Amino acid sequence: MPVVSVSMPDELIDRLDSHAAAHDYTGRSEVVRESTRALLTEFDDERLEGETLAGVVTVCYDFGTQRVERRVTELRHEHDSHIASNDHSHVAEYCLDLFVIEGDLEVVSGFVGKLRAIEDVETVDYTLVALDSVGQLPDV
Ligand SMILES: [Zn+2]
Repeated sequence: MPVVSVSMPDELIDRLDSHAAAHDYTGRSEVVRESTRALLTEFDDERLEGETLAGVVTVCYDFGTQRVERRVTELRHEHDSHIASNDHSHVAEYCLDLFVIEGDLEVVSGFVGKLRAIEDVETVDYTLVALDSVGQLPDV
């Protein structure tokens, strides 16, 4: 298996090692492999294919990092035809952007992925609603 060198902040390495120890991983490499698999398959959900989705997406980053805020705003504009609403708030020492986005899985996952790729973004979280299935009982 190839060896890959990855740079990350000390605080994140500490959390990675603590997580590995607490969950009996063989080491940090296994946690990174599992995290990579989870990230790459996150949107692999056949139930969502072809659905019109509403996504509520939150983005959190340090207050005053204008480079991040500028990139978030650029992405908001690039996805303007799919963004139903956007709110920017200051909570504690963080900027918190809340987006409501409408589109198919490719649109929503693309938006979430681009937000996560911004250096120094702390967290990107989301919930999805399959609009075509609202009010319908699931198939048994
Ligand atoms: Zn702000």
